Amino acid sequence: MSVYVNRILNLKKIKAIGFDMDYTLVRYNSEEFERLTHEKAIQKLIKHKNYPTSITSLPFNFNKVIQGLVIDKKKGHLLKVSRFGKVKHAVYGEEVLAFKEQDKIYRNRVIDLNDSNIQSLDTSFSISNGVLFGQLVELKKQGLNIPDYETLANDIREAIDICHADGTLKDLVRADVARFIVQDEDIVRVLERFKDYGKKLLVITNSDWSYCKLLLDYAVNPFLKDHKDWSELFDITITLASKPRFFNGKQAFLAIDAKTGLMSNTFGKIENGIYQGGWAGKLQDDLDLEGDEILYLGDHIYGDVVSIKKTFNWRTALVLEPLEEEVDAVKASTKVQQRIDLLMSQKEKLETTLNDMDLKRKEDKKEVDRKEINKLFAEIEKINEEISILLEDYKKFFNPFWGELMRAGQEESRMADQVEKYACIYMAKVSDLLAHSPKTYFRPAKRVLPHELVE
Ligand code: IMP
Ligand code: MG
Repeated sequence: MSVYVNRILNLKKIKAIGFDMDYTLVRYNSEEFERLTHEKAIQKLIKHKNYPTSITSLPFNFNKVIQGLVIDKKKGHLLKVSRFGKVKHAVYGEEVLAFKEQDKIYRNRVIDLNDSNIQSLDTSFSISNGVLFGQLVELKKQGLNIPDYETLANDIREAIDICHADGTLKDLVRADVARFIVQDEDIVRVLERFKDYGKKLLVITNSDWSYCKLLLDYAVNPFLKDHKDWSELFDITITLASKPRFFNGKQAFLAIDAKTGLMSNTFGKIENGIYQGGWAGKLQDDLDLEGDEILYLGDHIYGDVVSIKKTFNWRTALVLEPLEEEVDAVKASTKVQQRIDLLMSQKEKLETTLNDMDLKRKEDKKEVDRKEINKLFAEIEKINEEISILLEDYKKFFNPFWGELMRAGQEESRMADQVEKYACIYMAKVSDLLAHSPKTYFRPAKRVLPHELVE
């Protein structure tokens, strides 16, 4: 897979590289982990919020939700939104909202991610949340005695938060790491290569120290060639960083003793070692670097990428695992897409001819050939029919319920928009960097603007 470039990034100028851990340095078997989260969140809802036990048996279908969707808490809808904030697809429980209905509700609305009625499903950890919300909305529609949609959304959110925080999920990962975590030897090769080129390496994770150690011991240590332990590779490891607060708050750093796990206050310079909390401003000062000499790689578009760009001038790389499937699907569907493009341009020409004939009739008072007009209409109709069939074929390459990750109809999806705005480079996995020397000068392709499309 490739590394995709939005903005110029000269790796030679980068002196320190920070990595998020979960879904960046460490890859997950996402379907398995989300299935577990779905199951455990249901158990929490039953135990702590008195939801009926009948929901225990709800099945989990990983495909039902993709990253980047949003929940409309008031309406109980799952939405796919374009870069302009327009709703392009809406699902209500198990039912796809008919276009007319969708249009009636959302035509005059722009979906604002800051709206408290909107919940963003923007991480790989949010698939289970979206799936469960859809299922409970459907049950509520069918008459099950459960709270209103907004409460459902908040209860699910809370149940999943607890599962992540109280050890429910992490203890089960610890018990069977191989089931949930994917080892990727090439990520370790990338890390050792960066180290060899003199880059400082950092881990900045929201996970706690014990979980961080568990995962890095498993995902990194077996593949190290020039180091004995991952802690030799990373100069500074920051756990429980509370991103995005790490990038916009001023939390204190606590030093962690790697042997005992004990924590102590630390007031001096942040030097090599393991920490908890802290904030990016002090880290940058203590590293004695400018913001643009630090590259940060993360998977969470908001927590890892948007917030850094808004507060610090760090360079950013986004790791977006589902991109791998998307790129494969784009490649596989090329022929269909090309045929659609060709038909669209033929249709445009026919429409222009029709409109020109109409203009002549009106302005030059010229007689029009009815037969000719009917023929043109019939040709357009035939093309429309073929395009409809092709669009159905095209959809089959992508998620059956939501289509592409990065597009919403003809437009870019909100997800794609944020990736473009905030990530200097992006890729499906850190190991995609293996194909590029640490001296690479990443340059974006020149974007063609509509007025530059000269035939
Ligand atoms: P990072 O990606 O390395 O910064 O770490 C992500 C951490 O956040 C992991 O420990 C996850 O268990 C945790 N996490 C992910 N999603 C949620 C959530 O929705 N609520 C609470 N914690 C979460
Ligand atoms: Mg992460």
